[in-house]
Amino acid sequence: MIHIHQVKKDYCIGKAFVHALRGINLDIGKGEFLTIAGPSGSGKSTLLNLIGCLDYPSSGEIVINDVSIGGLRDREMNNIRLNTIGFIFQSFNLIPVLNVFENVELPLLIMKGVSAGERKKRVDYFIEAVGLSKQVKQKPSELSGGQRQRVAVARALATKPKIVLADEPTANLDSKTGIEIIELMHEISRRESTTFVFSTHDPKVMQRADRVVRIEDGLIKNGGEI
Ligand code: ADP
Ligand code: MG
Repeated sequence: MIHIHQVKKDYCIGKAFVHALRGINLDIGKGEFLTIAGPSGSGKSTLLNLIGCLDYPSSGEIVINDVSIGGLRDREMNNIRLNTIGFIFQSFNLIPVLNVFENVELPLLIMKGVSAGERKKRVDYFIEAVGLSKQVKQKPSELSGGQRQRVAVARALATKPKIVLADEPTANLDSKTGIEIIELMHEISRRESTTFVFSTHDPKVMQRADRVVRIEDGLIKNGGEI
């Protein structure tokens, strides 16, 4: 599903280089529920951004769902992002003026070829899956942090992506709510056979993953190979 070979990423700040990733090798199979764990600054976000086609590596190869993204143009990258990948963010990133239903529906409106009937069915299905059927009409400001992240989980899944990426999805939640969100993601991952990759620096959260890949200083310390 995801193949990463000798990937490096350098950021250039003025004349200085930051070696954010220094040669990452990682294979992630279909339906895996995997965490990328490491301290702040270790390269977790950089790696997730590359898997999510939000940025290009400085060198190395990334293959997503049998497509090597090295030679792709921006438009093709956008297509992979829209059709193959769902995102969940640390700060939820919901649209404040839209209610729960409309937030989950939004990616389906951007994606072409989903009929109005199918759209409604899918939005209802995933809102039910995250336990928010009673809150469909509420705005994000009327929800708790945990409920907001549930909306984000439903939104990420609505397009039926093969891969869901979540960058520190529990960082803005209390520990109990964070574990609940991870368990919810785990259950949905099993049910829908969706590959989930999330990052965390919280030991309690990483325990809940089926596989922990530790990253330190831009290098994988364990779990790089299956
Ligand atoms: P993490 O998500 O594990 O906290 P990051 O991937 O955000 O780590 O960062 C890895 C390293 O790359 C850090 O040293 C960080 O300062 C640097 N970095 C990240 N993004 C940028 C950027 N856009 N420009 C310059 N340096 C960056
Ligand atoms: Mg980060």
